[in-house]
Amino acid sequence: MGKLQLIIALIVAAFSLFSYFGSSSVNQITGEKQYLNLTPKEEVALGLQSAPQMAAQMGGLTQDARARQLVSAVGAKVVAQSVAAKSGYPFKFHVLADPRTVNAFALPGGQIFITMALLSRLETEGQLAGVLGHEVGHVIARHSAEHMAKEQLTNGLTGAFAMGTGSMSGAQIAQVVGQMRMLSYGREDELESDRLGLRLMAEAGYDPRALVRVMQILEKASGGSRTPEWQSSHPIPANRISQINDVIAKAFPGGVPAGLTQ
Ligand SMILES: [Zn+2]
Repeated sequence: MGKLQLIIALIVAAFSLFSYFGSSSVNQITGEKQYLNLTPKEEVALGLQSAPQMAAQMGGLTQDARARQLVSAVGAKVVAQSVAAKSGYPFKFHVLADPRTVNAFALPGGQIFITMALLSRLETEGQLAGVLGHEVGHVIARHSAEHMAKEQLTNGLTGAFAMGTGSMSGAQIAQVVGQMRMLSYGREDELESDRLGLRLMAEAGYDPRALVRVMQILEKASGGSRTPEWQSSHPIPANRISQINDVIAKAFPGGVPAGLTQ
């Protein structure tokens, strides 16, 4: 490597580190310090831009009007009656027609998807609230944006030119959609989303214990094919169930109140 190339590489590396560590902010809902280089507005734009492509890549949205209505209504309730309403993200809940892949996931900025395969396995409205609450948790904890910032740092450090924070080209969107399809949130992100999901569903009047049953349903479903979000990248259900029980016990030291929606 020539001297000039080395200097340029160092500048790029320094710039990458500087922009990553210079971009810290405190999440107003989780209280966590995060490194992000997308604004909430950019997250919303990215989610809205990617949603149609994501839906198409995953086999399209369902025509089942009742399913769509149910998911929209429960999702809206979880958001409107919980701290998620303060996040300012315009949440939208989509139902994918896929009858085989048991899955739910969130794009940055509030676009949330659930497959018919998962929806049809759920037994109660509370369980649906648990799944949607978990996904809303990923959005308000800004996990995708966190991962993109890390990705950008990595790209910068390896000398590649990372995507700008302004508007993205079609190719970049396709790349992001591709990455998000892999949906490799960390285990910590999953546990955090479970905690947030429990909080949101309970605030919205749903019995948080329904999320335990969701984990059991997922465990049973994983006997067949592995699915991208809820099984392979998610911590194994047994760990999650014990955390869920801990969170519920702490949130309701006198026991879960009666009369919550199951
Ligand atoms: Zn998740």
